[in-house]
Amino acid sequence: MTSYVFITGGVVSSLGKGITSACLGALLEARGLTISMIKLDPYINVDPGTMSPFQHGEVFVTHDGTETDLDLGHYERFVRTARGGRHSNFTTGRIYEKVIAKERRGDYLGATVQVIPHITDEIKRSVQKGAGEADICLVEIGGTVGDIESLPFLEAIRQMGVELGHDRVMYVHLTLVPYISTASEIKTKPTQHSVKELRSIGIQPDILVCRSEQPLPTEERKKIALFTNVQEKAVISAYDADDLYKIPAMMHEQGLDEIVVRQLGLDLPPADLSEWQKIVDAKKNPSGEVRIAMVGKYMDLKDSYISLVEALQHGGIHTGTRVNIEFIESRDIEVNGTDCLQGMDGIVVPGGFGDRGIEGKIETVRFAREHGIPYLGICLGMQVAVIEAARNLAGLEDAMSTEFDRDTPHPVVALITEWQTEAGSVEQRNEESDLGGTMRLGAQQVKLAAGSLAAESYGATTIEERHRHRYEVNNNYRDQLEQAGVRFSGTSVDDLVEMVEIPGHPWFLASQFHPEFTSNPRDGHPLFKGFIAATRQHHDGVLPQVAEA
Ligand code: GLN
Repeated sequence: MTSYVFITGGVVSSLGKGITSACLGALLEARGLTISMIKLDPYINVDPGTMSPFQHGEVFVTHDGTETDLDLGHYERFVRTARGGRHSNFTTGRIYEKVIAKERRGDYLGATVQVIPHITDEIKRSVQKGAGEADICLVEIGGTVGDIESLPFLEAIRQMGVELGHDRVMYVHLTLVPYISTASEIKTKPTQHSVKELRSIGIQPDILVCRSEQPLPTEERKKIALFTNVQEKAVISAYDADDLYKIPAMMHEQGLDEIVVRQLGLDLPPADLSEWQKIVDAKKNPSGEVRIAMVGKYMDLKDSYISLVEALQHGGIHTGTRVNIEFIESRDIEVNGTDCLQGMDGIVVPGGFGDRGIEGKIETVRFAREHGIPYLGICLGMQVAVIEAARNLAGLEDAMSTEFDRDTPHPVVALITEWQTEAGSVEQRNEESDLGGTMRLGAQQVKLAAGSLAAESYGATTIEERHRHRYEVNNNYRDQLEQAGVRFSGTSVDDLVEMVEIPGHPWFLASQFHPEFTSNPRDGHPLFKGFIAATRQHHDGVLPQVAEA
């Protein structure tokens, strides 16, 4: 029987509720429990697939191809047993959509359909479904307590507490305890008010996680406990950490996992956090460092590439390397040239949509290819690598993806419907199927050519990786590009290009899929380990130079 831990947030947003939930998941998993994790998002969009990364950060793609909130990425990086999917993230929009569909079908037999009980029942049903068979399901509620739109979610989790009882349901509330420097004082009042708000809707938190710059002094801890009706030992101080992966230990030292397992009546061995300790140690004592340029758009919005940044760091953890990432706007390269790429040990062009800065990305690939700098291209980063090779190796002037130039003379990247001339269509995708629709999404099998850098990196010739894109390399150009020196080292089951490399270049690998979604700090990921190892060699000057064509 699954028990539930609900995590709410108070005072302000952006306190790191996703990380806190993920760390609690990691601790409980380290006690031997299986964990499932759910994120409830109070906004009206049906899913985050169509939301601007400007507003919402990265769209995380799960194994089954669901486009979800970036917090699901934190969950998967911290908790091995919590593999997300279409039942792990739902929004107000999705709940209403389901309820309205039932109403239209007449399922409610003429009853007046209301927030309580119909919406709240649907929320509870969805939570129970998402929980699966796990021992404990952690449910994070997006937004801040006091928001109008999160009320139905809070009401639903309140009801679950009554229905399942105090030994199967717990509430954790994350708040801010600010330090006012002009008064040299730590302020507990916002926390008191936030808990008051929560209690006014019938939820008494069992645990408070207090975010602050410095560890919470005993006196403030006592005061918070007294005013919020929470046990003193259950007031946990989550002070700023210089490394994300130190947080599980920080919370464990204050007894967070013990409080949860006690209340849920579980008798378990102590948490084994040695794997987390190893990560912290590896980051603290690297044997070398590298500079990596990440060239894309919206580079000031780091949240839009959060999984990729993490995956590069994981590559660093597993090769004893400090990874310094420099974020470069590809537009700047169009204006100022590639000088800013001098001295880099590696170059990454990440995934992306839209034509802004596309020529800058193509120039970036050229620089990496011609100067023998390790290059990792992801999704759009692979497509620009193909465009660059078409233009500069195969002499196909003005080659382009039809995403950016519909009238290009050489559509080396295009929608399948635009280039599939003979023998019917394997898949149908077109302009209209863009929004919230039918991109190639989720985990699919990829075959790797034996002896390629790709196969060598993975140590396998069949792999599975996650996708999120619409455009494909145009198979009609494959022979021509191969003759010009491109190797298509990975292909899908239906023979679409999945991986591209440039033999003769010291380390040049690009993928149509997104390997960053399956990287985690404990295991790392073969592509990122391989890339960072190559950048280290480049840095130390031991990587072979680019072969003359
Ligand atoms: N815009 C490209 C496509 O749709 C690449 C997508 C991506 O990088 N995720 O195919």
